[in-house]
Amino acid sequence: MKPQMPPKHYADDTTTFGFAATTNLPYERNLDERDGDPESMTCYDFVSTNTSVGYSGELLATRSDAFGMKLFHQNRGNGSASQTAVGGDECCFLDTASTLAEIGAGFYLRGWVLGTGGNFSSVLSSDPLRLAITPTGSHKGELNPTDILEIDEAGEVLRGSSRPSFEYMLHLAIIRARGAGAVLHTHSIWATILSGRGAPQRGLTIEGYEMLKGLEGVSDHRHREWIPILPNSQDMVRLGATVETMLDENPDVHGFLLERHGLYTWGPTLSIARRHVEIIEFLLEVVGHTAG
Ligand SMILES: [Zn+2]
Repeated sequence: MKPQMPPKHYADDTTTFGFAATTNLPYERNLDERDGDPESMTCYDFVSTNTSVGYSGELLATRSDAFGMKLFHQNRGNGSASQTAVGGDECCFLDTASTLAEIGAGFYLRGWVLGTGGNFSSVLSSDPLRLAITPTGSHKGELNPTDILEIDEAGEVLRGSSRPSFEYMLHLAIIRARGAGAVLHTHSIWATILSGRGAPQRGLTIEGYEMLKGLEGVSDHRHREWIPILPNSQDMVRLGATVETMLDENPDVHGFLLERHGLYTWGPTLSIARRHVEIIEFLLEVVGHTAG
């Protein structure tokens, strides 16, 4: 996608800019989501005074694909966009980390991530794969953006000082199998109850509800959604492989349950993944309250 010129907040040839390296630095933000289309989203998130990561030229920022934003530096001298990534997607990471913390607070209030339950991730870049992910043992209702980690496809921590969620391998499995842009996992009461009740059938079917239309690609309330239930395990290597196999065999599912554990769902973007949690948790409650 062709980078877009920022409408404001650009550097001239002689001004040195630097990206905010931490969230406590002063920075300006101009997050402009045009017509709600993530493909046309622009994002500028940089300090207006010099820091250690200075350079001159114009700044271009664009979301180049469904997974994340990339920052580009265009040299005014020859007028060509070199499209050299600068700033390590700082803009995208800070924004994503804030959204993950906000999601945690909201889900906690709904009772979906009590205690240290649940974990969230969002893809920062697809090649090489970089994830923003919640740390292990964290209270999702009290997350700060600075708690969020960045990991690579091997689970190595690239940013942050704690360890990623114990279940990060499941996130990677879902991203590999689905090309997901974000993965969200909750431990609600109804997901826990129904995943135990439906385990002998290896899943449950939900159909005939208007709210099903909140699932990506569903446009009719008569849709029949199969939600697989997998046995719970503490062996994440084995469980990750089981998840990938199940997703290969069930290309249309929007989420799955781990038995007496909770829900995993995902989406091409973080906002769609959040919507899927809200839709599926709503439907699980309805099924739970109405089942005979
Ligand atoms: Zn869990």
